[in-house]
Amino acid sequence: MFIHWGSHALSRHLGPDGERYCTTCGVEREHYLQVDYRVHYIMILCRWATEIQYASYCTYCERRIPVYPDYVAAELGGSQVPWLDRYGWLACIIFSILINIWDHILAPLVAAGAPP
Ligand SMILES: [Zn+2]
Repeated sequence: MFIHWGSHALSRHLGPDGERYCTTCGVEREHYLQVDYRVHYIMILCRWATEIQYASYCTYCERRIPVYPDYVAAELGGSQVPWLDRYGWLACIIFSILINIWDHILAPLVAAGAPP
């Protein structure tokens, strides 16, 4: 059986963040929020995220200003990393448990009740 694993960096645009002073531009500029993270995966479904960083980017020069996750949670409500990227590993474990329940408990019962 071929097992596929790896990791890659992802970014998710979270919308406008209002005007902030940009030290590169030297004036007030519109900024937008973005979450950057690395997702690791085994067989696509088993996923987990690390290096989660929120930042406000200048729309003109793309200068990055780190922001606290609490700030983003207060603005947008909760973590902005997709559920499957955060808890895919949990879905993988539940799926494995269900397969084992079927294989060791339900399948023998079905086979015992089946006509020969
Ligand atoms: Zn700027």
